[in-house]
Amino acid sequence: MTVQDVSPAGALVSPYQRSVADYWNREKNPVNLRLGDVDGYYHHHYGIGDADWSVLEGPEETRDERIVAELHRLECAQADFLADHLGDVAPGDRLLDSGCGRGGGSLVAHQRFGCRVDGISISRTQVDFANEQAAKRGVGDKVGYHLKNMLDSGFETGSFRSIWNNESTMYVDLSLLFAEYARLLRHGGRYVTITGCYNDTYGLPSRAVSEINAHYICDIHPRSTYFKEMANNRLVPVAVVDLTEATIPYWELRAKSSLVTGIEDAFLTAYKNGSFQYLLIAADRV
Ligand code: SAH
Repeated sequence: MTVQDVSPAGALVSPYQRSVADYWNREKNPVNLRLGDVDGYYHHHYGIGDADWSVLEGPEETRDERIVAELHRLECAQADFLADHLGDVAPGDRLLDSGCGRGGGSLVAHQRFGCRVDGISISRTQVDFANEQAAKRGVGDKVGYHLKNMLDSGFETGSFRSIWNNESTMYVDLSLLFAEYARLLRHGGRYVTITGCYNDTYGLPSRAVSEINAHYICDIHPRSTYFKEMANNRLVPVAVVDLTEATIPYWELRAKSSLVTGIEDAFLTAYKNGSFQYLLIAADRV
């Protein structure tokens, strides 16, 4: 990847962003690929809702398969919950899936609303993979993925009805991110994020939160920064849902599977000691 690939303006392309792109270009975790293989919706985010623990019982040979299907069901429930908050989207509207990963969320939104969806990522591998999936489904004319930096996307001002970040705000400075969204969203448009954030009432990042940062090369923001930067950028919160309790079953099941990546204990510790929260925030552009 070259600097020009990512940002025509160039100014926002940092060595940090190149290291994140590198991570995602190489990433081939079974927990991301095998779950997507179930039905072709590739998500790189966590799940919500009660788990069906009976998947741990039954024949050993198919144990993995049952766990994979159940973890996928929980991550799909999370994508549906996010889509529930995108507003009253019409088929003629346009949506932006910012930090789109392998693209599952854009396909979910297109299927639900029938509208144009653009996904952006700084990983060339992800963008190519996602475009192949859209073509396979015959929706390549309506769902397109691009190698772009979410801080400097180059899309036209006011062109989006709704924009979301599903677990991708921890890779950027929120003051820059929300300034770009204030530009991209039309008046009355909707912004939604599902994100892990550290809990201001705990203090500064706990050891477990710091481990998560080191694992993903990211910078988990405090809860307060989301609201401060939204207020600074004409984004007025309309819903805040604490999903911390709802995501714990996903992590407990994942920790018992063969798909562990080694970060499971840090997430469970951080959620349980109150230092970390899993939130949905939806806001209107005014
Ligand atoms: N939203 C997806 C993937 C989350 S993983 C899902 O729900 O499945 C985080 C994603 O953020 C990766 O695709 C990574 O490439 C992307 N990302 C990180 N920094 C970015 C930036 N500055 N601009 C665009 N995408 C970025």
